[in-house]
Amino acid sequence: MTKPAPVLWWVRRDLRLADNPALTHAIASGGPVIPVFIHDDTVSGLGAAPKWRLGLGLEVFGKTLEGAGSRLILRRGDALEVLQELIEETGATAVVWSRAYDPDAIARDTDVKSALKDQGVAVESCAGHLLFEPWQVETKAGGYYKVYTPYWRAVRDDPVAACLPAPKQIAAPQEWPRSDRLSEWQMGAAMNRGADVVRAYACVGEAAALQRLEDFLDGPVEDYKEGRDYPDRHVTSGLSENLTYGEIASRRLWHAGRQALEQGAAGAEHFLKELVWREFAYHLAYHTPRMLTRNWREEWDDFNWRGDNDDAEKWRRGMTGEPMVDAAMRELYTTGTMHNRLRMIAGSYLTKHLLTDWRVGQAWFEETLIDWDPASNAMGWQWVAGSGPDASPFFRVFNPETQGEKFDGKQSYRDLYLKGGEDEEGRTPAEDFYKAIPRSWGITADTPRPDRMISLKEGRDRALAVYKGAKEQG
Ligand code: FAD
Repeated sequence: MTKPAPVLWWVRRDLRLADNPALTHAIASGGPVIPVFIHDDTVSGLGAAPKWRLGLGLEVFGKTLEGAGSRLILRRGDALEVLQELIEETGATAVVWSRAYDPDAIARDTDVKSALKDQGVAVESCAGHLLFEPWQVETKAGGYYKVYTPYWRAVRDDPVAACLPAPKQIAAPQEWPRSDRLSEWQMGAAMNRGADVVRAYACVGEAAALQRLEDFLDGPVEDYKEGRDYPDRHVTSGLSENLTYGEIASRRLWHAGRQALEQGAAGAEHFLKELVWREFAYHLAYHTPRMLTRNWREEWDDFNWRGDNDDAEKWRRGMTGEPMVDAAMRELYTTGTMHNRLRMIAGSYLTKHLLTDWRVGQAWFEETLIDWDPASNAMGWQWVAGSGPDASPFFRVFNPETQGEKFDGKQSYRDLYLKGGEDEEGRTPAEDFYKAIPRSWGITADTPRPDRMISLKEGRDRALAVYKGAKEQG
């Protein structure tokens, strides 16, 4: 009997063995599986922190695969050309991958699929990144959802595929194809001094993600509904970083959340709702890809935003003089993440008090977030700015001072990032910030805290006046 031919598993944002339909599909062929990650233009175009964090994920995942008797083959180049080379070299007759949903990836994957099929290769793209495929959720009238709450109602009782076990062993080919060395790819080149600092805050790999989920279910989920708005309570899961690179599957979080709900965990339903915000972001991005780059509401195209400017640069550097905003921007640069409440506060400040185009903020997050996600980032920014489909209205201007009183009443969050002290894991974020930032910023621990750039009242009044003018003209 002839042995089945190898299958290429094109690894993308699914750096995990468990709950991985593409991997399960590859294994089911009965032949050897060759996992390959391709450094193509989509990888070259990543911002500094996401690219670096992807590199860490690949490093850990390579070792995870070795533990299952396999390897991660790394190749650089055009995806189709690389796959064709590998087919030629290994005799593979099938290629399988997990779907991606941003327009560039969809265009690339469509081309790859049709070219490979034309040459007689079996190609399968599998679900895996999301709970619900964006085209499967429809309104009664047959369109897509533009508002979150009805979307949530539509999906909350929909079946979600069961979790899949991680294979213990993955059949290896007789001979492994050549692989690049990860170090050659210089994934952290643009991080400069930041890499060593942010590393202490990142939580990389499938095992770490599963542990994170367990820790969350072990206690924080109880207080999640109330506590998730308070940055010093540490009750959110922190799993966005792992979801971004597919180190854990959203379906695992979903089933765990459902189980916690059945067992009476008070915050579990709210956790499920947040997971569905991620789904909603992909739903919107799929149906209206312009959301990623342009105002979702076209009437906002005439709004008098400021482009990038010196005030925005101070915002990026955590030097606005507004403690909640500066603490948030320092959290971002030091840890590669930012608490959700602070994303809203810092985003509102940039787009309203500083009247700066949301895309300036979106671009900075894209550069610095280790949980950067194209759909959630764009939706988050358009929500904050008021230009999105189900957005906070523009006239809802977050006041960073009152937000601070409400959500950081003891100032512990602001102190941690602006003054000093240890976090719950013994790290020192305020000091780490000075180690991470470029020397060219000229900011040290001795640099005095700046005065406010603009009074909160003046900034708010200016924003509302521009908004009123735009409404009158529109
Ligand atoms: P938890 O509170 O534990 O929630 C569980 C999961 O639900 C998260 O991991 C995430 O996948 C999802 N989720 C929670 N809140 C949201 C939300 N508002 N929108 C979409 N999904 C959500 N999230 C990203 O993953 N990547 C981004 O690039 C990103 N950019 C954002 C930009 C702005 C301006 C705003 C306002 C929000 C952004 N978010 C983004 C959403 C949110 O801030 C993060 O998902 C959340 O802070 C992650 O922390 P966590 O994993 O502890 O979340």
